[in-house]
Amino acid sequence: MKKAQLVLVPSPGIGHLVSAIEFAKRLLDQDDSFLITVLVIIRAPFGPDTDTSNQSVLTTIDTRIQYITLPKVTPPDLDPFRSPENYVTSFMEAHKPLVKDAVVNHVMSKSSVPVVGLVVDLFCASMIDVANELGISSYVYFASSAAFLGLLLYLPTRQEQVGIEFKETDPDLIVSCFANPVPARVLPSVLLNKDGGYTCFENLGRRFREAKGIVVNSYVELESHAVSSFLGGGTPPVYTVGPLLNVNGHGLTGSKSDGHGKIMEWLDDQPEKSVVFLCFGSIGRFREAQVKEIALGLEQSGHRFLWSVRKPPPEGHFALPSDYSNFEEVLPDGFLERTKNVGMVCGWAPQMQVLAHKAIKGFVSHCGWNSILESLWHGVPIVTWPMHAEQQINAFQMVEDLGIAVEMTLDYRMRSDNLVLADKIARSVKCAMEEDGEVRNKVKAMSEASRKAVMEGGSSFAALGDLIKDMLS
Ligand code: UDP
Repeated sequence: MKKAQLVLVPSPGIGHLVSAIEFAKRLLDQDDSFLITVLVIIRAPFGPDTDTSNQSVLTTIDTRIQYITLPKVTPPDLDPFRSPENYVTSFMEAHKPLVKDAVVNHVMSKSSVPVVGLVVDLFCASMIDVANELGISSYVYFASSAAFLGLLLYLPTRQEQVGIEFKETDPDLIVSCFANPVPARVLPSVLLNKDGGYTCFENLGRRFREAKGIVVNSYVELESHAVSSFLGGGTPPVYTVGPLLNVNGHGLTGSKSDGHGKIMEWLDDQPEKSVVFLCFGSIGRFREAQVKEIALGLEQSGHRFLWSVRKPPPEGHFALPSDYSNFEEVLPDGFLERTKNVGMVCGWAPQMQVLAHKAIKGFVSHCGWNSILESLWHGVPIVTWPMHAEQQINAFQMVEDLGIAVEMTLDYRMRSDNLVLADKIARSVKCAMEEDGEVRNKVKAMSEASRKAVMEGGSSFAALGDLIKDMLS
């Protein structure tokens, strides 16, 4: 017997969609009295449209969830390079009438079961207006860390005191959601952006405070400091219900490729705990000079490796990276031949399955939040190489606040000229692969904690129960 309906509005992009679906699945696993509809934005504001076959893939993932694809809107007349975040937020705002129409005509009118919440994600805070117009409660689904959420919620307060964006020369920031003072060099680029980025995020932080509750893909054992910073009041209730991971893997993330089978076969042939995996998320890519340094660094480290190398879009194109048809285009001469017995270079990798493999011992990662949760789940220590979005501050939190990652760099930024040299890469890889001390022990403990958190009686299970109670009350 269905008691309540929820409508989820994830931002475009496969990462947002997958995370929102995982949340919906977990909610239904715990209480199947919900009817859940996900509004899918097929047209991403950059890159190709989300693979249209996802529509059919989506329905196979979980038949309990209803999907409605929104019609396409005209992208905003803004330069995406000035502030990608502002661009995406404006793009989402343009969907407000479509979201309202879908909720009224395809959800409310189709069933007498009451709609108890519109659940919006990071770039969709403007949809809170739609919820208000329709007299529905709004909840935020935040697919990143509780600490980053705390930073966003702090921005309106800071705005009243300081009034302008952060600068690289600012003193370390003392903010209650981080245990240590935060250097300006690890702040997300959007907070240093004068071209609409900072204002956009300050506004998101303000809007988030209007929500009835904020759901975070994290767990209290990982982020106890950040979670306790919310207890002082002044913010909506925060529910840490994670980690929400696509543990079994499905066809949604990444290109369909028989290369995945080859990757897993190659890993099967490697000794236990001998391989370092390098992977930089859906957007991460390097210019040629940096690719060469990584190649040299890996050779110098002497460790086995599995390396996902993605091809940057053409200069001036606001698009996602693609796979190389020939890696020799970008790798140093003879590299593939010299390393053929110890390494494999690939395109998009089945990351969750790779991290689960017994051959993997270390993970050079861009520190996207999903990647962090996935590596902790499998107890694989990260070597930090942040690239964009909030990844620098994630890396900082992992290394400085929590001591559960090995530092390579904390302040690399994808669109700058900085170059991490082969020596440093080799040293950091060796450190992660040869160290069996404190970091690895802490990661192992965190892996166990993450699995317990989502089990019946665990902290995230309980938090989800509280959220359900709130939604049904
Ligand atoms: N991912 C993958 N293969 C790749 C690159 C990424 O499966 O080659 C998956 C990864 O497992 C994670 C998601 O894509 O679930 C990336 O999310 P994250 O938050 O780490 O980074 P983002 O892509 O948002 O920068």
